[in-house]
Amino acid sequence: MKVLIVEDEARLASLIKRALTEEGHTVEVAGTGEDAISVLTSISLDIVILDVMLPGMNGLDVCRRVRKLKYSVPILLLTAKSSIEDRVEGLDAGADDYLLKPFALAELMARLRALTRRPATVPNAHLEVLNIHLDPIGMYVWKDNEPIALTRKEFGILEYLMKNAGRVVTRDMIANHVWDYDFLNTTNVIDVHIRTLRKKLGDAQPGTLIMTVRGVGYRMPKTIS
Ligand code: CA
Repeated sequence: MKVLIVEDEARLASLIKRALTEEGHTVEVAGTGEDAISVLTSISLDIVILDVMLPGMNGLDVCRRVRKLKYSVPILLLTAKSSIEDRVEGLDAGADDYLLKPFALAELMARLRALTRRPATVPNAHLEVLNIHLDPIGMYVWKDNEPIALTRKEFGILEYLMKNAGRVVTRDMIANHVWDYDFLNTTNVIDVHIRTLRKKLGDAQPGTLIMTVRGVGYRMPKTIS
């Protein structure tokens, strides 16, 4: 892969460069947004790792500029800002994903793999339904900006409900998707997970975020009526 790292902190840039080079990738480094644009417009790249905090033109400006120029190269933002608005701003600017600083190199590599696996035309995988945000790659969930800690199964169920927002999903569908096999008369397991999920999301029984469709399954509404 041909990777562009846009980062003004030379030490961090060379750390990432070394890790990528060791995995056999070709790496370019730009220290400013202006340099990044000139590299981007002169050579073909597979992915851009873009720091938000840059002197002069910042990462978000670079991102908007690149998209305005109709380049569809995947962009991974590096950001020290943690509020949901900042992350959403980055995604709105045209980034495909973001990673909070400080990060583990292993997570950076995992996200690069995930981003380059997906076709560039597919929108970012970040899900938003009602006041719930979900990041499928980092496995993070927030409600009203507050992080929510979920188990793997709860996360899988919530992700599935969010992807299918507005549609009814049956217990069988959840079982097949989240557990990868059919349950034999053990739908109670799903109901228990739904109950803990509702509790963690502050959703009352019988649920306005996760609604029970009697005799069928569950539905997450796209809007609260
Ligand atoms: Ca920086």
